[in-house]
Amino acid sequence: MILRHLVSVGLGPRVSSPVTRGPLVEMTRSASSDMSEFRKVFSKARHIAIITGAGVSAESGVPTFRGAAGYWRKWQSQDIATPEAFFRNPSLVWEFYHYRREVMLSKEPNTAHLAIAECEARLRKQGRSVVVITQVIDDLHRQAGSRHVLKIHGSLFETRCVSCGHVAVNQGSPICAALEGKGSPDPDTSDAKIPPEKLPRCEKSDCNGLLRPNVTWFGETLDSHVLTKVETVLDTCDLCLVVGTSSIVYPAAMFAPQVASRGVPVAEFNIGTTSETTRFTYHFQGPCGATLPLALARHESEVV
Ligand SMILES: [Zn+2]
Repeated sequence: MILRHLVSVGLGPRVSSPVTRGPLVEMTRSASSDMSEFRKVFSKARHIAIITGAGVSAESGVPTFRGAAGYWRKWQSQDIATPEAFFRNPSLVWEFYHYRREVMLSKEPNTAHLAIAECEARLRKQGRSVVVITQVIDDLHRQAGSRHVLKIHGSLFETRCVSCGHVAVNQGSPICAALEGKGSPDPDTSDAKIPPEKLPRCEKSDCNGLLRPNVTWFGETLDSHVLTKVETVLDTCDLCLVVGTSSIVYPAAMFAPQVASRGVPVAEFNIGTTSETTRFTYHFQGPCGATLPLALARHESEVV
């Protein structure tokens, strides 16, 4: 069970030495960008795993708070999305997540999200499956219509009680009265210093514990229930797409080599360049919103 060894990796941006299940199958020395070849493979695939990363959301204008331009106030995600930051200053961490939740109200799924959802619905009628495995914590895959989504880092729109562990869907805007109007990303904004009793609280009877966002923070382990499902998908898929994240960057670095080691084709779709010696089968460079609709469109062999 390969993923059992990886659950303690946490949310480091890169996995320096991805663990694999035995020797990797060298598919090609460099990945092909031949879309018609990919389309032949796609037309025969019965179970497709699609691993998505922040790049897919970025094309909808969702900020990632990573990289050179990605700041909220003076911080990046890795400074605030930690259990230590929440313990020190839950008000500040809630301001950050409140801002991210509110931002999502103005964002919509893009053509990449829609292509994935449409493909899932179409292939379902043919007895074929599409499962999305995503590191993204927003809701755009579901909004686009994807039904089978495994969120390995949790959801912006779920809370978890730090006292009783209860997880609940919460789409509230604002999530609590004290956060209304707070969370500005401007670096000159002062800390709201909301007292913990005014932050989101558990609604289970007799609990009233402090709630936190139900997302996986840096340094935390991934949800084992979700990982078990991911493992099954990776073990049974006969085509794997890596979308909006490089296959050498977490989380695809954990998953794609496992699929490739079974000789299953892996296709990357991302805006960046790939390394010269990629071990995967296909690489399509460019915005996913442009490449994915072509890749996942109805194939002439589909009869339903
Ligand atoms: Zn509780």
